[in-house]
Amino acid sequence: MLIFATYFIQLMIQEKNGTWVSWNENLTYNYESLYKVTTEEELQEVVEKTDKIRFFGTKQSSADIAAGIETLIDITSYNKILSYNDAEFTVTVQSGVILGDLLEAIEAKGWCIPCLPDINTITIGGALATGTHGTSGKLLCEYVTNCTLVLANGSLKKIEDGDELMNAVRVSLGALGVMSTITFKCEPIYTLHIKEGPESDAEWLPKIKERLKKHDFLRILWLPHTDKGYVITGDKIDPKTKIKEDLGPDYLKHRRTASKILYKYSHIFPWTTAVANKILAKSFFSTTKEHKGSLYQATVTKSRGSTLELAEWTIGLDKFPLVFEELKTEINKWSNRSFIHIPMDVRFVYKDKSWLSYAYNEDTVTMGCVSRNAATADTYEAFKSVEKIFLKHGGKPHWGKRFTAKNAELSKVYDKWEDFKALRRKMDPTNKFLNPYLTQLFNEK
Ligand SMILES: Cc1cc2nc3c(=O)[nH]c(=O)nc-3n(C[C@H](O)[C@H](O)[C@H](O)COP(=O)(O)OP(=O)(O)OC[C@H]3O[C@@H](n4cnc5c(N)ncnc54)[C@H](O)[C@@H]3O)c2cc1C
Repeated sequence: MLIFATYFIQLMIQEKNGTWVSWNENLTYNYESLYKVTTEEELQEVVEKTDKIRFFGTKQSSADIAAGIETLIDITSYNKILSYNDAEFTVTVQSGVILGDLLEAIEAKGWCIPCLPDINTITIGGALATGTHGTSGKLLCEYVTNCTLVLANGSLKKIEDGDELMNAVRVSLGALGVMSTITFKCEPIYTLHIKEGPESDAEWLPKIKERLKKHDFLRILWLPHTDKGYVITGDKIDPKTKIKEDLGPDYLKHRRTASKILYKYSHIFPWTTAVANKILAKSFFSTTKEHKGSLYQATVTKSRGSTLELAEWTIGLDKFPLVFEELKTEINKWSNRSFIHIPMDVRFVYKDKSWLSYAYNEDTVTMGCVSRNAATADTYEAFKSVEKIFLKHGGKPHWGKRFTAKNAELSKVYDKWEDFKALRRKMDPTNKFLNPYLTQLFNEK
C-alpha cells in the first residue's frame, strides 16, 4: 500500500528543483517538488504525505502568500466544471478552474455571477482565498453555497452555507486547507446599460450613496493630480432596449500605449507624473461613453498589455469621504513622492459575515493603487502613503495585494482576527500550510 502511495505521488511530480516565479516577477523561489494535480484524490494524497505545502493558481497575487517553501501544488490543471443544477442555478467546479472559463460556461446557460473582479485569468481557488471582489455587490466568495476542503491530514471536509465554519473558510488565504470543489449560486444573466464620463471630485464624492441606491453598477477611476474621477455606472435593462452606443473617439484604444510612453521615466523623475496625469486625463478620460452588455462582457478587462504591481485598501463606506480627502491632500503635496501613474480604482462591496472579509459587518469602499513597475515597488512611495492613511482610519488591505501590515495592525482592524488564528491552529496544528510570509502575518513561530 505504502509502495503504491509513493508511486502515485511520484507520478504527479511534474518538476523537481525548479524556480517558482510570480506573474510580474516580483517573487521568485526555488522549490524541491512541484505537484500538478488533476483529481481530488491526488490533492488529498499530496497534502497528507507532505509536512509543509503551499498551493497556487495563476500566481497573480502581489502578496507573498502562494509559495516560498520546498513543496508546492499547482492547481491550474484541477480545472473541470463538474456539474450544473438547473433548478437551483448552481454550478460546481474544481478550484483550479479559470474564472473566465467559468463565466463563459455559465453565460452560455443564461446565468451569471452578479459581482465580478476586473480580471478573468485568475483561478477560483486563488480568487476565493484572497477575498477577490468586484463592485456593487459582494465578494466573489459570498456566492459560494458549499465547498469541500482538503484538511491538513488529507481528509475531506464538506462545508455548507449556514455552517459557522463557512464564514471562516470563505476568505482564508489557503491557511485552513485547500479548497477542492466549489459550488456557486448563480443568477439569470442580465444586460447592463453602461455610461461613463468625467466628473470633478466635488461632484462624484458626495453622490456615492445616492448612486449606489440608483444604479446596479458603480465604479470610479480616480486619477491623482487632476481633481477628477471617471464615473462608470450601469443599469439593468431589457436586452432588446436600443441604446445610442458610443465608444468614444477611436484614439481611446491607444490609452495604454500612451500611458506607457508618458510614464516611461516617471519612476526616475516622479514629479513628471503630475503633468503626465493631466495629459492622460485630458486625452483619455474627458469624453463620455455609452454601451451595453452582460456584466462580464461590458465591465471585465479581458487582456492586459503589461504586468502590474497592485495594492488595494478598503474602508467603511461612511468613512470614505474623510479618508479620500486626506489621501488626496497628502499625495498632492510636492513634498510627498507618491506619484501615482495609474487611475485609482474606487469600488463598493456590501457587508457580509465572513471573518476575514474586508466587508465584515460593514458596507465598504475599496481603493486600488497600482504601479506598472514591479521591480521598483519596494520604493514606490504611493504604496506607503496609501497604507499609512488607510491603516490610521481602520482600513484593511486586500489579501492578494501588496501591504506591509502584520498581526499587530491586522488584529486591530479585524474583529475576528484572534478567532481565525485560534481556528487555524486547531485545523493546522503543525503549521503545514504556513509559508514564511503567512507565519509572520499570523505571528506564529
Ligand atoms: C491585473 C490584476 C487585476 C486584479 N483585479 C482584481 C479585482 O478586480 N478584484 C480583486 O479583488 N482582486 C483583483 N486582483 C487580485 C487577484 O484576484 C488575487 O490576487 C487572486 O488571488 C489571484 O488569483 P490566482 O489564481 O493568481 O491566485 P494565486 O496568486 O496563485 O494564489 C493566491 C492565494 O490563493 C491560495 N490558493 C490558491 N488556490 C487555492 C485553493 N484551491 N484553496 C485554497 N487556497 C488557494 C494560494 O495559496 C495563495 O495564498 C487582481 C490581480 C491582478 C494581477
